[in-house]
Amino acid sequence: MVRLRADLDRCRGAGQCVFTAPDLFDQDDAAGLVVVLDPAPGPDRQPLAARAADACPNRALTLSPD
Ligand code: SF4
Repeated sequence: MVRLRADLDRCRGAGQCVFTAPDLFDQDDAAGLVVVLDPAPGPDRQPLAARAADACPNRALTLSPD
């Protein structure tokens, strides 16, 4: 299994992750920080999760083996 994690200390609410993968991420209403909607994406969603992690300007997203 693969785990998708967000480091909220690094997130600055830039929103590229939501733009890249709206099914995997949302932003909270208060500060716009990332909310991971699918913390264990299946194989079909992992490429998109990886693209979103690459798109984050603050390197706040990691995709790693569980
Ligand atoms: S792209 Fe990065 S900084 Fe922007 S909301 Fe997503 S996790 Fe946060």
